Amino acid sequence: MYHHARITGSSRQCSTLGIQTRHTTLRLTTKTWQKGCMKRLLILAIVCILTSPVLAATEGRLNIVAAENFYGDVARQIGGPQVEVASILNNPAMDPHLFEVSPSVARAVSGAQIVIYNGIDYDPWMPKLLAAARNTHRRTIDVAGLAGKRRGDNPHIWYDTNTMIAFAKALAQTLASADPAHQADYQQRLARFERSMQPIETKISTLRGRLDGTPVTATEPVFGYMFDALGMQVRNRSFQLAVMNGTEPGAAEVAAFENDLKTHRVRLLVYNGQTSDPLTDRMRRLAMESRIPVLAVTETEPPGRTYQAWMMSELDAVNQALRGSHP
Ligand SMILES: [Zn+2]
Repeated sequence: MYHHARITGSSRQCSTLGIQTRHTTLRLTTKTWQKGCMKRLLILAIVCILTSPVLAATEGRLNIVAAENFYGDVARQIGGPQVEVASILNNPAMDPHLFEVSPSVARAVSGAQIVIYNGIDYDPWMPKLLAAARNTHRRTIDVAGLAGKRRGDNPHIWYDTNTMIAFAKALAQTLASADPAHQADYQQRLARFERSMQPIETKISTLRGRLDGTPVTATEPVFGYMFDALGMQVRNRSFQLAVMNGTEPGAAEVAAFENDLKTHRVRLLVYNGQTSDPLTDRMRRLAMESRIPVLAVTETEPPGRTYQAWMMSELDAVNQALRGSHP
């Protein structure tokens, strides 16, 4: 089972409350003080939505909020000058699993005309914020729902290029329904986006031709859909799930992982460059000692890159790491 939300220490969540004391609803928040920080935070978010003025669209542009920056990037590519996009998870140096909603995030969501989020528990805070700030005029895109994914599927669905193309199509439609005057512009930019995905598809099929069946492993399932597209044989899946869910992999799973590295059963180790813990660090070290190529991928789009450039650079890195390798 894939489960993405990790519950973490609450000191930072609590401290956000201090900032909010200027709101007239102080009594409401202090009354709930005993009931746990998570609950308090949700109430706080609701309070902020109720007391903040709804953000107006900037200069007639459609106001889009994306939970993750790769969706925000594609929204900017399709929306062009007709949209204003804010992405919430946008720092590849931070673990998105540990994200905490702040009042400014709640405000941004409440003022958005279009909200895009991953779904299937990758960003469980977003459906909560949407429910807390109901708005019949707002349009939302749940990308996982759109791609037919269910809770329990690998949530890193943007590593599946088909999902991103389906998302881009749905977004172009949503934009056209919100702003029919620019329908032709949205369609044109969608076509350009689809064309720009072609080199990635070509790269995937070229690599697959060479690497199909290659045994690989990973500390987390971030790159899972891309591994599948490349036809690679992914090992240690239950270890990866445990790490993603913030639980300890079992002793047998750890031993199997170590054995795969020591006996060169796998040709590549992929790890999540956005997280770090003693166990995954140990696996990386062991892979390096065993002279198995090690490759970092990220969950969040690096700054200054497009989605397309990001995917291409990771595919190039796989190619480089497995140069001369045959299954
Ligand atoms: Zn993840």
